[in-house]
Amino acid sequence: MCYKVPLFKTFLAPKNVLMPALEDVLYSGYISEGPPVEAFEKKFEECFNLKNCISFNSGTAALHTALILAGVEQGDEVISTPMTAEPTNVAIKHAGGKIVWADVDPRNGNLTAESISANITNRTKAIMVVHYGGIPAPIKSIREVAKAHGLPVIEDAAHTLGAKYDGKPIGHHSEFVMFSFQAIKHMTTIDGGMLSCQKKEDAQKGKKIRWFGIGRKADRTNVDIQELGYKYHMTNVPATIGTIQLDYIESIINRHIANGKYYDDNLKNIEGLEICSWDNVAEPSYWFYTVLVERQADFIRNLEGKGISASTVHKRNDLHSVFADSCCPLPGVDTFYSRMVHIPCGWWVTDEDREFIVETINEGW
Ligand SMILES: *Cc1c(COP(=O)(O)O)cnc(C)c1O
Repeated sequence: MCYKVPLFKTFLAPKNVLMPALEDVLYSGYISEGPPVEAFEKKFEECFNLKNCISFNSGTAALHTALILAGVEQGDEVISTPMTAEPTNVAIKHAGGKIVWADVDPRNGNLTAESISANITNRTKAIMVVHYGGIPAPIKSIREVAKAHGLPVIEDAAHTLGAKYDGKPIGHHSEFVMFSFQAIKHMTTIDGGMLSCQKKEDAQKGKKIRWFGIGRKADRTNVDIQELGYKYHMTNVPATIGTIQLDYIESIINRHIANGKYYDDNLKNIEGLEICSWDNVAEPSYWFYTVLVERQADFIRNLEGKGISASTVHKRNDLHSVFADSCCPLPGVDTFYSRMVHIPCGWWVTDEDREFIVETINEGW
């Protein structure tokens, strides 16, 4: 179906800017991992005021590497959320971890510190936190729980590029924070990911892991692989795309935020609909906009009938057979999942589009 207002849209820098740079790198004779990758990492750090950022060929690869760096080994428990895209939890399985579900806040779909705390055992190795849909999770209270147990926190920030918490950009608060550059995220490099590490040593280890356990800078004829790594590095081609995309990211994110705030103001007080709420120190970057509604299927059908794409987007991950051994009661997830619907909020949503969406919702479903 061709929507008047799609739920996702890929942003790519204008042709006259992107294509010459892409042509240069493609025919440079050097397309694997080299200086353009380092330049992209550096520019990303500057743009979001982050440190120790290392790039990957996907967000999933970055998450897997973060789990290894966090010390997760076969059979170790990792606390996670089912309210996410599958890569979050597939990565935990790849690292050999046993997923232990914590429950979410039914007001926004993010893990609560209380539920994380209740699920920690002496086999817990790490806490995986997702900022669902662009709304930052309560990082402060989660980090207090983590600190009390000496556990590292991995933030899956695939939906939250450009969001803030406690006045600082997401990426600042935890041992490991992952961003995704998959096609429909705030920013794309076609595919790719970034891991921001708190410690420089972790970033250095991560560089080894992402290239077979060797690292690109080692003398390949005189090196000993001591720990097995993967082929997870980013190449010069997506890095070149990313470097150019970064010139546009601020205005892209600002438009997501402006549209999100418009909905915050204009979807209040509608019967049968509740908007999400969150920590007052959280500043979302609104990847999509989540509303909590009665008669979810009717709500979606009504918007789709008007050419507005609306969807639940994700299946709660605890329903997948591969995660069945982690099954447990999750009343917060039940409530959120039965009410959530995501509506378009991105840079492509014009003033007229968002007015039309609010008007359509106001007419009822
Ligand atoms: C997109 C996404 C990822 C990473 O996916 P890649 O496609 O591997 O970059 C991880 N977690 C969530 C929640 C995502 O939406």
